[in-house]
Amino acid sequence: MALALGDYKVALDSSDKSANVNFVSHAHTDHMAGLRKNRKALASEMTKDLIECRSGFTVELAEEPDCVDLLDAGHIPGSKQLYVENELYGYSVVYSGDYQMSRPLIGEKIKVREADVLIMDSTYPDPKVVFEDRGEVVTAIQHYARMKLDRGIVLFGAHIIGRAQELISILNEVGITPLVDEKICRANSVYRKHGIGLSYRQADLFADGLGKGENFVAIAEQSKLDPLREKLASECPRRVFTAVATGLAKSFRFGTDVQFALSDHADFPQAIEYINACNPKLILTFGQRSDVFAKNLALKGYNARPLRDTSQLHSVTLNHI
Ligand SMILES: [Zn+2]
Repeated sequence: MALALGDYKVALDSSDKSANVNFVSHAHTDHMAGLRKNRKALASEMTKDLIECRSGFTVELAEEPDCVDLLDAGHIPGSKQLYVENELYGYSVVYSGDYQMSRPLIGEKIKVREADVLIMDSTYPDPKVVFEDRGEVVTAIQHYARMKLDRGIVLFGAHIIGRAQELISILNEVGITPLVDEKICRANSVYRKHGIGLSYRQADLFADGLGKGENFVAIAEQSKLDPLREKLASECPRRVFTAVATGLAKSFRFGTDVQFALSDHADFPQAIEYINACNPKLILTFGQRSDVFAKNLALKGYNARPLRDTSQLHSVTLNHI
């Protein structure tokens, strides 16, 4: 999926062989997967630094064309929306990437600008998925960690960029300094470089004997949670409590002791708030569940359809919107 922007053909958070630049809205793997070595990226400095720390290869930033603005998306630190001024096509376009309307736990709040065409993320397309008050979820996580820490080891599974740092910040607020592995530490160092301080201790969570010492709270890559629980439980008769904190907890059961619906995405009501603030004439839904999202938006009276490919976008003129 690529957008023509002057000399650039820009892939939107995806792989596209015809593109010569990637717009990478933020440093989550499903959005940076299309980035290849030797291809320039339109992205924020923080996203560049996070990608480099995660992938090991150097990212060269493309010069921003005059017709383009990268606007804060409020998803994870460094996340951006791609805004294209109307001089280029005769109408303005914004691509949301992952975003949320709520103030994020870490980083800048979203900046919404009006646009004629809105290409928007479809992560939570169902009106029934509504997140609880963020403050209440945070308090529940803090209460759980403090309570279980008295009785055993507490393990949180998280993405290494975004959610891991939010959990560290949430735990720091109640005086807990979690153990984290080396991958999360590397991402934390990028946060520190960009002025975001966190309190944590680096540890090899699979080191022999770790489970025999004092109780602790640790944050591990989500895929490592089960083997880590087994390893720690085998070393010591103490309880090992496991938890995840993700918006997907609204829709799926994880095999953990507890799951918290903490999201850095917009739910359906936030999507409507975003659309109303953006005031588009046409909405093109983007992502895996774009069909469902477009249908649900159309039911609410919005001019929405799934984005199949960007030739669809180029054929749109204001007269057709
Ligand atoms: Zn994301």
